[in-house]
Amino acid sequence: MHNQFGIRFEAVRKTFGAETIIPSLDLDIISGERLVLLGPSGCGKTTIMRLIAGLEQVSSGDIYMGGKKVNGMDASERNVSMVFQNYALYPHMTVFDNMAFSLKLRKVPKTEMTRRIQEIADKLELGHLLKRKPRELSGGQRQRVALGRAIAQQSPYFLLDEPLSNLDAQLRTNARNELVELHETYPTTMIYVTHDQVEAMTIGHRIAVLRKGQVQQISSPDDIYNRPANKFVATFIGNPPMNVVSVQMSDNGLLFAEQEIILPNVIRAELVRQSGRQVLLGIRPEALKLQLGVEPRSSGFSVKGEYLRTEYLGAQYVHHVAVQQQRLLIATPTPAGVSPHSNVTITASFEHLHFFDAGEGEQRI
Ligand code: ATP
Repeated sequence: MHNQFGIRFEAVRKTFGAETIIPSLDLDIISGERLVLLGPSGCGKTTIMRLIAGLEQVSSGDIYMGGKKVNGMDASERNVSMVFQNYALYPHMTVFDNMAFSLKLRKVPKTEMTRRIQEIADKLELGHLLKRKPRELSGGQRQRVALGRAIAQQSPYFLLDEPLSNLDAQLRTNARNELVELHETYPTTMIYVTHDQVEAMTIGHRIAVLRKGQVQQISSPDDIYNRPANKFVATFIGNPPMNVVSVQMSDNGLLFAEQEIILPNVIRAELVRQSGRQVLLGIRPEALKLQLGVEPRSSGFSVKGEYLRTEYLGAQYVHHVAVQQQRLLIATPTPAGVSPHSNVTITASFEHLHFFDAGEGEQRI
């Protein structure tokens, strides 16, 4: 797709008083994609959205929308529709009037307006509620009205800032799927802010993981999950989080809690070349296997530990195992059938091992 409705940040800096929220951001959002901004509270997600919408102006740097520089351009000129966490519906207006608001401002003919609102309302299962006021709706219905109002605007840019955070878990799942389907029906350049990683993985064509106003990695959900760029991304995505432990390079591989893991020469050589003797080893809980007893294994990651306890999370069991002072989490779909304080062996295949530089930045090796 050509980049008719792409958005580009070039060395964008944003400060509030003495505080630098975004030091220097380069970001290319592709026309028609669903890009998720994901990161911890305060990392600057909402600020980035407000910069796109024109509700904030850059301190320095440039923002381009559809190839045109928009610095200094007013929010009303940017042709952006937005849905925020609190929906901000007009309480005294009906569902229809809320959804029709921007069309009335634009003086869209009445028949065309009615047709369009009805179509969107039907799609959102609001067709029978058009005469109601927001207070007569459930939380989920209100949220759909806010979405419908934004869709009715037919802007090429669609900004959603934690739009589902007021919904309960079941509604969130439904709304998430609806959103993706709606986007397929009404394609726009969609930017979606969340700190919920499941939402990020299921909604985004790409995810930008942010920390302190800086992009740590921007890539497909698959890449972010399977090839995290650094330790921050690795541990931010995934629940329970990736195990990351400090290991020492040894003659034949590496030492973890005084146990030696024999590594293939190519992997070992690369680690030594890139990082020296100290490395961080990451393994996702679901990549680890738990066996009762002490079972030596010649190939792959294998360590002995003491089984501590299990957390039952419904779809999975999370087992806690102590390996000396360190603790590893292992996630399995079935119970382990191991009693506390048993000796266990934990294994993983080489392909599931992630290595990060123990130095600053903790980059993937
Ligand atoms: P959350 O997930 O909690 O919503 P966020 O990633 O969206 O967080 P922002 O709302 O962008 O974060 O805020 C980033 C930082 O900028 C925060 O430290 C916030 O306090 C600060 N900030 C935002 N707006 C202003 C403002 N108008 N004046 C001063 N500081 C601000």
